[in-house]
Amino acid sequence: MLKQSPAAITAQGDLRGRTRRLVVVSNRVAAGAAATSGGLAVALSEALTMSGGLWFGWSGNISEDCHGTPPSIERVNGYTATTVDLSPGEHEGYYSGFSNECLWPLLHYRLDLVKADRQQMEIYFLVNERLAKMLVPMLRKDDLIWAHDYHLIPFGACLRRQNVRSKIGFFLHIPFPPPEIFAAVPDHEKLARSLFAYDLVGFQTPRDRENFIRYAREHFAARLTGEGALKVAGRTVKVDAFPIGIDVVQFAGEARRNCDHPDLAGPTEANFKRIVGVDRLDYSKGLPERLMAIETLFETSPEYSKAIQYLQIATPTREGISAYEAIDAELDRIIGQVNGRFGTFGWSPVAYIKRRMPRNLLAGLLRRCHVGLISPLRDGMNLVAKEYVAAQDPLDPGVLILSQFAGAAEQLKEALIVNPYDTEGTAGAIRRALEMPKVERQARHAMLLDKVRAEDVDWWRQQYLDALIGELPGEVIEDQPRAASGTAAWPAGIDQGLRA
Ligand code: ADP
Repeated sequence: MLKQSPAAITAQGDLRGRTRRLVVVSNRVAAGAAATSGGLAVALSEALTMSGGLWFGWSGNISEDCHGTPPSIERVNGYTATTVDLSPGEHEGYYSGFSNECLWPLLHYRLDLVKADRQQMEIYFLVNERLAKMLVPMLRKDDLIWAHDYHLIPFGACLRRQNVRSKIGFFLHIPFPPPEIFAAVPDHEKLARSLFAYDLVGFQTPRDRENFIRYAREHFAARLTGEGALKVAGRTVKVDAFPIGIDVVQFAGEARRNCDHPDLAGPTEANFKRIVGVDRLDYSKGLPERLMAIETLFETSPEYSKAIQYLQIATPTREGISAYEAIDAELDRIIGQVNGRFGTFGWSPVAYIKRRMPRNLLAGLLRRCHVGLISPLRDGMNLVAKEYVAAQDPLDPGVLILSQFAGAAEQLKEALIVNPYDTEGTAGAIRRALEMPKVERQARHAMLLDKVRAEDVDWWRQQYLDALIGELPGEVIEDQPRAASGTAAWPAGIDQGLRA
C-alpha cells in the first residue's frame, strides 16, 4: 500500500543509502487486529509494515506497578509494537484530565468546557517524560521519530533532554485554535515552547498552521523564514499543513462488496431515502444541533413523513468524563423528542445505533445512504466525510453535506457546505440534497472523489515524511534563545544534541 515510502525514506544523501527506521509514537498503539479500525491506525500500521519500524505508546491498560514493569514488545506484520501501562494516577492526570478535559476542549474552541488543573498538567508533562525515557534505550541514531497528537505535545522536548539527535516530527490531528483561545490555558507558553523542539510541526489545515504561527509571533516573537519555517526560541522549525486522507481503494472496495450485505437488510429504498451521520459520541460533532435541523426539516416539510429517515451511528467514547455523559444524555433526549413528535406506526424519523460497527458494514451502509450529513462544530479533519465520498456509486452517488468548521471543508468544496449553528440553513441543505438532480450529484461527486483520491492516506504520509526527511534549517541554531515575555525561557537542556 505504501506507494513510494521506502524510496523516500532512503533517498536523501545524508542517509547514506540506508533505510531509516520509522518510529511512530502515539497515545495508543493499535497494532494487529485493532489496526483494522480507524483511518489513522490503518495508516500508521501500513507505514510501519513497509519500513519495519517501531510503534510505541500506551497499551490501554492501567496497572498499579507499571513503573517497575518493562515495556511489552510484540512483533506484528514486520514491525515492533512496544507498549507501556499507565498507573491509575497517570491515567487520571495525563489522559482523562489534562489531555481530554483541558486540551481537547481548548483545541476545539470550547473554552466553556476547559478544566485547567495545574496538577493534571504536571502529571501530563511527567508522563511524557517517563514515556520518552522508556523509548530512548530502543532508539537508533538514524531513526525518524514521528509523534502524534495532543497527548504528546511535549514528547519531542523530552527526547531532546535525553540527548536524542534524530529528526523528530509532530503531527496534530485536531485543530489549533486562534492564539486568544490557546492562551487561555495556564502555562500555555510551557506547552507551546515544547513544540519548538521538533524539526517539523504538522497541522491538518493551513488555518491551523496560521493560528499557530500567529501564536508563536505574539508570544515568542517568532519570525517566518522565506521557506515558511519559524525562527523561534533559537531554532528554526518547519511548520506546514498535511491534510490526512483515507485508503480510498480499500474503503471503496469494502463499500462495493458489502452494500448488499444481509446484515444491512431493511426497508426497501426505492421510495425511501436515508440520511446518515457517523460520529464518535463527542460534543465537538454537533449532534444536538444536527438533530434540531432534522426536527426543523420535519416541521417545515411534512411531505417527508415516512419518506426519509435520519440514521445516527455514534460510538460512545471517553466514558466517565462528565461532558461526554452529558452529550450522551442530551442526544438520547433529543432523538426521543423528534421520534415522539413525528414518528408514526411502523416508521421513526430517526434511527439510532449507539455502538461501533464493523468497518466493512459501515462502508456498505454509507454507499446505500442518499445523504451524508457531517456537521461538526469543530473538527481537525473528519475522515467520515472522505469515507462517505469514497463509498458512493459514481453513477448514482449520494450528496455530502459538510460543516464549514470541519478541516475537510477546506478540501471538499463541492460538498453542500453548512454552518451547523444555523438550524434553518442546515435543514435547507438537507432538502436540497434530497431533491438534487442526478446530473448535479454526479458532477459534485466526481470532483470530490478526485480530491479524496489524490490526497489519500499514502499521499499524506508521504508528504509528511518527505518534509521531515528533507533539509531542515532547524539544524542550524542561528539565534540565541529568546522570548517575548520573561516567562518564556527554554527548559534546561531542551536543545541539547541538536548539533551534529
Ligand atoms: P474522530 O477522529 O474525531 O473520531 P474522524 O471522522 O476523523 O473523527 O474519524 C473517525 C473514524 O472512526 C472514521 O474512520 C470512522 O469511520 C470511524 N467510526 C466512527 N464511528 C464509528 C462507528 N460507530 N462504527 C465504526 N466506525 C466508526
